[in-house]
Amino acid sequence: MTALDRSHDPARTSWVTSAQGHRDFPIQNLPFARVAQGNTPGAIAVAIGDEALLLPPAFAAGWGNELPPGARSVGLSALNIFAGRPPAEWRAVRLALSDALSDPAWQERLRGALVPQAALEYLVPFQIYDYTDFYASIYHATNVGSMFRPDNPLLPNYKWLPIGYHGRASSIVISGTPVRRPRGQISPPAASVPSYEISRSLDYELELGLFLGGRNALGSPVPASEAAARIFGFCLLNDWSARDIQSWEYQPLGPFLAKNFATTISPWVITSDALLPFRVPMPPRGVSDPAPLEYLRVPDDRTIAVELVVELRTAAMRERAEPGFTVSRVQFDQAMYWSPAQLVTHHASNGCNLYMGDLLGTGTVSGPTPESRGCLLERTWRGTEPLALPGGEVRRFLEDGDEVVFRGTCRAPAAVAIGFGECRGVVVPA
Ligand code: CA
Repeated sequence: MTALDRSHDPARTSWVTSAQGHRDFPIQNLPFARVAQGNTPGAIAVAIGDEALLLPPAFAAGWGNELPPGARSVGLSALNIFAGRPPAEWRAVRLALSDALSDPAWQERLRGALVPQAALEYLVPFQIYDYTDFYASIYHATNVGSMFRPDNPLLPNYKWLPIGYHGRASSIVISGTPVRRPRGQISPPAASVPSYEISRSLDYELELGLFLGGRNALGSPVPASEAAARIFGFCLLNDWSARDIQSWEYQPLGPFLAKNFATTISPWVITSDALLPFRVPMPPRGVSDPAPLEYLRVPDDRTIAVELVVELRTAAMRERAEPGFTVSRVQFDQAMYWSPAQLVTHHASNGCNLYMGDLLGTGTVSGPTPESRGCLLERTWRGTEPLALPGGEVRRFLEDGDEVVFRGTCRAPAAVAIGFGECRGVVVPA
């Protein structure tokens, strides 16, 4: 495991004054995003407080001269090539950023490369060629399973392998993009034939996304001991789901059109290096649970201590200028049965080639209590326990105009807390 360095020092501060005590982006975080800038298709930026450091003008101002040539690929228009470089170069860039943003000698030269985040338009940070979604929270799997199979909620394979399906990369959108309510083939229990209509059971799924770095050749699995080093960074991910379409189409091959109409991700990629102080052991497995097969045994396996929050804000609440309602709050590191590294090593265990910029979703993050359930299907128990919102509205599933916001915060003793920013989307009519 990589050791902490001066970039994690809790005493380190930045000359960008808004970084001190910032909820998401103190100098200990330094996440990457891809932003639109004038006529250029994209530029990589680094969050510091309320500002963003644009890397092309930072390089032009002389920052990064000492970096290895390959590490300077962080200045290209998407993160794929940089994520394909060795992890030592990821750390070299992080240290160079941390040193410059903490050293007042750089303030004058880098001032022209700083822009307020509020003025930026964000783009998907990688060219994402493949997207896979898992099902790694045992509470989510148990809850959903018990709705359909009360006596036998977990299928026999669940504790042996991470369940997943291949999602669709083309419909991954950046936070803030409106999400159009889908239409699809729906077959209500009382109907004799299905019909093609507007989904009435639109839902969100609270997840983390893992962006991969490096690559393994087709036919070459990623050993468990090397899997963690393949994770470049993390984001928040909303796997929008149409439950009425899903319940009719999902057997026997799994989710399809119920999920591939939109997947929203947060713009800032929180790097694995920034998350080092928040690595914690996986929760212990049940005493009667099987030990993972050898290829799934990750040495010193860790997850991330991050609290995830779901907020819902209806159109009426926005009109009344009311804040969002906190629907759920869940600790990621206590919710998952399979670790991030296990998802990676399992995905490649058959020789599947994983490519830098590939995105893996963890699956809905649900904890043991009703208030920690990561989707409305569970939170309202298929609509049988509706949510009462503060202004008197009631929700079973999402209505048009509803806005869903995810946030994530990492905390650990002796570390400065860092956050993920926001993953936001509003539902617009079909
Ligand atoms: Ca999902």
